Amino acid sequence: MAKAKPAAKKTVKTTLWKREQGWDKLSAAELRNLEKFCREYMAFLSAAKTERLAHDLCLELAQKAGFRDLADVLQAGDSLRPGDKVYRSWREKTLVLMEIGSEPMESGLTMVGAHIDAPRLDAKSYPLYQDDSLALLDTHYYGGIKKYQWVAMPLALHGVVIRRDGVKVVINIGEDPSDPVFTITDLLPHLGADQAQKPLGKAFSGEALNVLVGSRPVDKKVDDKNVGDKVKLRVLQLLQEKYGIEEEDFASAELEIVPAGPARDLGLDRSMVLGYGQDDRVCAYSAVRALLESRGIPRRTRMAVVCDKEEIGSYGATGMDSRLIENTVAELVALTAPGAGNLAVRRALENSRMLSADVCALHDPGYGDVSSPNNMAKINCGIGLCKYTGSRGKSGASDASAEFMAEVRRIFNDAGVHWQTCELGKVDVGGGGTIALYLARYGMDVVDCGVGLLSMHAPWEVAGKLDIYMAFKAYQAFFEAK
Ligand code: MN
Ligand code: MN
Repeated sequence: MAKAKPAAKKTVKTTLWKREQGWDKLSAAELRNLEKFCREYMAFLSAAKTERLAHDLCLELAQKAGFRDLADVLQAGDSLRPGDKVYRSWREKTLVLMEIGSEPMESGLTMVGAHIDAPRLDAKSYPLYQDDSLALLDTHYYGGIKKYQWVAMPLALHGVVIRRDGVKVVINIGEDPSDPVFTITDLLPHLGADQAQKPLGKAFSGEALNVLVGSRPVDKKVDDKNVGDKVKLRVLQLLQEKYGIEEEDFASAELEIVPAGPARDLGLDRSMVLGYGQDDRVCAYSAVRALLESRGIPRRTRMAVVCDKEEIGSYGATGMDSRLIENTVAELVALTAPGAGNLAVRRALENSRMLSADVCALHDPGYGDVSSPNNMAKINCGIGLCKYTGSRGKSGASDASAEFMAEVRRIFNDAGVHWQTCELGKVDVGGGGTIALYLARYGMDVVDCGVGLLSMHAPWEVAGKLDIYMAFKAYQAFFEAK
């Protein structure tokens, strides 16, 4: 019997795939683009303090880029052709931008969706009251906040009031350096011994988040002996003087209390952005800019959605749990293929693919005990690609397929997008969700993909500038992919 020859030794070649910052991968020109993009983003973030304001600023960008109101197209009896750019504004809070592709809608759309609402304090429907000699606004918080973070800091007041006469008054107080600001008082440490013994979740109650808005009573000469709340009355007089608002008008108002002041460069190296509402206006702005700057007439129709109500479960007429996207796609089908019908709408949705553009949590070495360092995004290591969210055994996650992950990964790699995988902390420690599941319900491929944050949901959130720029590049590459 012949002796078997020993097999020739194969040289195995592989490399470690490491999560690393992407600065040295960028050319000088790209670094300049990064700085410019982040400057423009910070200007947007500083002005877009509410979902309505974010909507208006995105709409302004789209209108400047030649997008036409879908309602006008319908009214004019026009149809839509490849390359046409249209928008749909919903209740001034959710905005859908569309660029018509050369293929029928039934081939599916390329979608990027982000949200423009952010955690905040909302004034109640009967908000103004006086306690002792202080006038205060009673609030109900919106979204997941850590209440202790909102006290003893300057706050601004934004929103709309619809007066009895139907006039819509826009309120914006506290952003201009010459404006007054507001605050929620905290207890001095000298009297805080009992408070300090309470667990964090109990030391500050939601009901106690009352915003200080005044302390001076009405002037003696206009003083009515029968009025008890003279400080409150003075605040009402000022509102009447400046805005023509009376107290009952609060019943038809949306007033939001948010941190006052602009977004700032963070760090001596200016490598980060500190700003309010980066969850999820960082992805929303990047998605809108990406659509506006995507080149060529697409094969599949492009759609960027910036929506409301994500932070409270996506419910309501302007949330992604509504039929808004389905109805909008139905309009597109009707305007591109008259008579195509309901089946075409269903096919269009089913064959779509989407990046659910929402922020992810960055690994924070200060809170390493809840982190899963190998599987969490790290700052400036690129945009985070999150296959699944959810909690307690991925519950509530839409869980993107390996096949779709492969497609997105290929698109990003081909376009030189610096990206990383991510997950939300240690297993069973917590969890969260995004709008992904509301679009996945149509059968389309969806994956969460966004910028990592430190201090997510805090009044001032932290994002890495490289990650912000990569979000823009990633969404643009996704829109431009064949
Ligand atoms: Mn979010
Ligand atoms: Mn959030």
